[in-house]
Amino acid sequence: MKIIVCIKQVPDTAGGVKFNPDGTLDRAAMLTIMNPDDKAGLEAALRLKDQYGAEVTVLTMGLPKAGDTLREALAMGADNAVLVTDRCLGGADTWATSSTIAAAIREMGDYDLIITGRQAIDGDTAQVGPQIAEHLGIPQVSYAEEIVEAEEGKLVVKRQFEDRYHIIEVKTPCLITALAELATPRYMTVHGIFDAYREKEVKVWTLEELKDTVDMANIGLKGSPTNVKQSFTKQAKGKGLYYKDLSPEDAVETIVAKLEERHII
Ligand code: FAD
Repeated sequence: MKIIVCIKQVPDTAGGVKFNPDGTLDRAAMLTIMNPDDKAGLEAALRLKDQYGAEVTVLTMGLPKAGDTLREALAMGADNAVLVTDRCLGGADTWATSSTIAAAIREMGDYDLIITGRQAIDGDTAQVGPQIAEHLGIPQVSYAEEIVEAEEGKLVVKRQFEDRYHIIEVKTPCLITALAELATPRYMTVHGIFDAYREKEVKVWTLEELKDTVDMANIGLKGSPTNVKQSFTKQAKGKGLYYKDLSPEDAVETIVAKLEERHII
């Protein structure tokens, strides 16, 4: 089984979000991490590798420093890593990002399963995974919480839905988008870290490597129908209302009255 896991390097928002004066994210000033949903997806892939001997390739599109996140994935146990990086890819929206990633996957050739995260914690759109599947013309299962079965030619996936679960059987090759609940990521081992830097390689692909598979009209800022004009922190909503020294019964009555007054209930 050949598995490709798409990984995005994202700012570590736990360390505080920093902005440039023009309102764009100051990515250089923020620490970066592997997007959490992607890490769960990688763990799910590694478990399939442990069980069935799958080959796991991690793929990212980003700045050269995104290679560090791929090294982390290699240290966790991924076999191969590809970093797609080129100045012309900067400013990509979800459409241009998914077009480029799909082109890289076409360039890789054979695969049985593609795993993406459900969403990235910076852009937060949850569009890239489903768009990759559409570009490649393969079936997809989003919001995957469990891979129930993996057999030759098919997967059974438990998919989270609003108030229920769906158990979906899907033919491979297919794409699933991983929720953080899909699998708790393992830690890197010391041996894994040595291997990631000494034995394994992060292949770097520019547009030159993708020239046979990419549509140049659909990449980077120029190929992006959406532009993010500004990002900014939400203003605090105010202090709220405090009620002191109420009995539990009075507290309930007061809160319910307030919620009714504001048409919340
Ligand atoms: P999502 O669709 O949330 O990511 C889902 C999964 O796709 C990830 O978990 C990962 O597995 C995979 N993936 C995503 N990006 C990569 C990558 N570079 N390499 C490998 N795998 C990847 N763009 C829009 O088109 N519309 C918007 O409304 C929009 N809003 C934005 C708001 C902010 C604050 C920011 C910072 C960016 C926004 N963007 C938007 C740009 C968007 O972040 C980029 O297009 C980005 O490359 C992908 O979108 P995403 O982060 O929403 O990913």
